[in-house]
Amino acid sequence: MTKESPPSESNVSRAGSKSRSKPSTDAAVSQHVELKTGTRAFDGSAGERPSIHNTVDWLAENEATVGGTLVNHRVMTGRSAQTTDVPLRPELSEAIRKKGIDQVYDHQAEAIRHARLRKHVTLATPTGSGKSLPYSILAAERALVDDARTLYIAPTRALINNQADDLYDFFQNVDSSLDAGRYTGGLSRHQKRRVRERQPHVLATTPDMINYSILPFAHKLWGWFLSNLDLIVIDEQHQYRGVFGSHVGVVLRRLRRLAKTFDADPTIVACSATIDNPRQHTVQLTGVDPADVHVVDQDTSAGGSTHWLFWQPPRGQQGQARSTHRTTARLAAALVERGLQTIVFTRSRQAAEQYAQVTARRLQRDGYPSLADDVAAYQAALSDERREELEAGLHSGDIRVVWSTNALEVGINIGNLDAVLVDGYPGTRMELFQQAGRAGRGTDPSIVGLVGGADPLDQYALDHPDDLLDGSVESVECNPQNPRVLTEHLPAAAAEAPLSTDDNTWFGDDLPKYVSALTDAGVLDRSLTSTDITWTYVPDGGPPPSQHVSLRSINSRSLRIVVTPDDQSPPDIPASNELDVLGELPLASGLRDAHPGAIYFHQGQRYRVIDIDLNPETPPGASGSASPIAWVEPTNATYTTSAVTDRTLTLQDADESRGLPGTADPEVATDGGDASADTAPPAVQLTELTVSETVVSYYTHQSGSLNGPVPIETDLPETELSSDGLVITIPPAIRDAFTEEHPNADDPDAPSPSFEGSLYALTNALLGVLPATVLCDRSDMRGLAISRLDTTGHPTIVLYDDHPGGVGLARSIFQHLEDALEFAQTRVADCECDEGCPACIHHPHDALSNQTLDKVGARLLAELLLDDTQAA
Ligand SMILES: [Zn+2]
Repeated sequence: MTKESPPSESNVSRAGSKSRSKPSTDAAVSQHVELKTGTRAFDGSAGERPSIHNTVDWLAENEATVGGTLVNHRVMTGRSAQTTDVPLRPELSEAIRKKGIDQVYDHQAEAIRHARLRKHVTLATPTGSGKSLPYSILAAERALVDDARTLYIAPTRALINNQADDLYDFFQNVDSSLDAGRYTGGLSRHQKRRVRERQPHVLATTPDMINYSILPFAHKLWGWFLSNLDLIVIDEQHQYRGVFGSHVGVVLRRLRRLAKTFDADPTIVACSATIDNPRQHTVQLTGVDPADVHVVDQDTSAGGSTHWLFWQPPRGQQGQARSTHRTTARLAAALVERGLQTIVFTRSRQAAEQYAQVTARRLQRDGYPSLADDVAAYQAALSDERREELEAGLHSGDIRVVWSTNALEVGINIGNLDAVLVDGYPGTRMELFQQAGRAGRGTDPSIVGLVGGADPLDQYALDHPDDLLDGSVESVECNPQNPRVLTEHLPAAAAEAPLSTDDNTWFGDDLPKYVSALTDAGVLDRSLTSTDITWTYVPDGGPPPSQHVSLRSINSRSLRIVVTPDDQSPPDIPASNELDVLGELPLASGLRDAHPGAIYFHQGQRYRVIDIDLNPETPPGASGSASPIAWVEPTNATYTTSAVTDRTLTLQDADESRGLPGTADPEVATDGGDASADTAPPAVQLTELTVSETVVSYYTHQSGSLNGPVPIETDLPETELSSDGLVITIPPAIRDAFTEEHPNADDPDAPSPSFEGSLYALTNALLGVLPATVLCDRSDMRGLAISRLDTTGHPTIVLYDDHPGGVGLARSIFQHLEDALEFAQTRVADCECDEGCPACIHHPHDALSNQTLDKVGARLLAELLLDDTQAA
């Protein structure tokens, strides 16, 4: 590959244009001319930095060239570093100097000081603030002084490989006897044995490997490690959320409990993105005492100014929002043509691959053929070798533009770039800032461009840059007390060390209930000693019980999506290993997405579900019953489908309840004199609930028109979900105020106000903005709008966690409901549509109710719930 460096501002200046105070379109033209005649003489070597300011000005003046509109521009000012002295052993000081570091930042020193005092430390500072230095120093110190061991845990193999190499190099600079090794699923048996024989001071691994390979063989293979385990580093702590976080929470409790039997009591250093609840999340995840956790969240590293550009893609002919990818590709080309090394974050692997090519073609067309060779796509499915090659290319600057999924967002060390483009709001401020943190070298200025899609959060982000940049970040939740998750892990815990009544300190107060169920099932054996009762695991001749635990899902029945073999209809079932399985979904959501007649999307291809087999034959040689199959075939159909389900809700007694600003205080309401307030339950309740659901029919839709319902001939089974949710009761006073204050109330030409339509619309708007309150996907929470709840007689909104047993989302939303309501209300008020659209109140999978929504009413209802003069 011949290398040609991109032009810089100084080079443009030499091209003969007169005034350089502001670049004009002429400047860009002269660049083109010069490039095409091949007389470029720019040497992009060190020291010559492209001008960020001029690029921003150029973009502002050339929106049409890119397409779309620069709707907002904000500049975040830079800062200088605050450094301090930390007493260090001479060999450590020397090794740090070799890394090019003269002094440590204040926040790094603070983390080191507290960990030395054996406090657990949560380091919650931005990307690039130097979170690895404190734990590298601590691990080396403890290895040198006590020959102690450190366990480094990260969620992905790419990150483990990257960090293990960095730690090894650092250790070698400190003392040649210090060793760091990786222990991942990618190693052969032989390589794994070699690592164990080396007994490295740092072992870098994933939570999955701790569950499968370390804990079950602790006594046989890992005594040398666990008895000396003194430090646990949890990198990328914020990744441990939802279902995965709930499982990892139990794995870490199993680990700490087992370490204790080896007389080890390791300190924890957790590294997190900037989140709203760093201490609480460390406590949830590890089970340590909150008082023992010290949080470091002030970034004292140096940083340059950042130009935030908020870009709206061009609208379609009907004013609808268009896909972001093409606009982002044009922006990427514009930036790299101006000499800025750029990373684009996009959501899917396909988009990364496809639009890297689109960007290259754009560069060709613009007259930069050599730059077109320097475009790459980075995603998790690449081989380790290819990823490492791309990481090196980014480091050296050979790669000028990379389209990446969030695989590069995690702390992989690629150095920083001049510009970051975010192709569609990633859904959370936390992720946005993680991605933005890749921009900016030292104190040089940088560009972060956000290209917004049609989602409510995207549009909110474009319209409210100040809220976005200054507002609080999301909280991160997990629930290691989830009954299903715990029940899966307890046999493994008992196999590692017999359970006793004291183990409720690790596994919660419901432990006796779970162990007695497992004892009844013959999985555990109860025995009485002179001082205690213990439960031991009853071996079943199979592999250790932890092998049955998958950390990425909650054990439940699933539906397999399988492509029908050619010329077989209805299909005979081939042996299971011959099936062309597209995916496996939890049964409940699987039946919604893949009922007979549904159009199912998989990697950009559409399939039609032709049949469902609820009781397929078990393949020869397999045990147990095979999970149901949805048979699909590829289709060219251009319509989409949405399922209609019957849902029955059963609510338990509330765990907690509270009011909202616009509702009477619950305590006053129950014993106050007002008759209507007397009968209204508290406005918001957090409760356990059960949702029984059957898919009965579906609608088809195509370019705005809706057909159906089409009944489903097969009787699909009822699925049942027990989870956590919140119940929002609309009291009579709010209902009355709604009727009085609705702007359409006395306008004879306007459609009449619809309370039901408003309730539905507000429910959808809330679901759309929940991921801005707590880190989750839109699909993690579901909602119900009920015009009259049987038990209370009041209109009610129910929002519930769509994971069996709940993963902690409902509690967080219960605590932050005002924020969510305010967010929903602003989003609806700001949206430029007339009667509702996907960016405000439409539900992505409920085409029918989308036709009956009342946008003005939804906004009014949210206002009334938040209005504290209402309650008076
Ligand atoms: Zn709208």
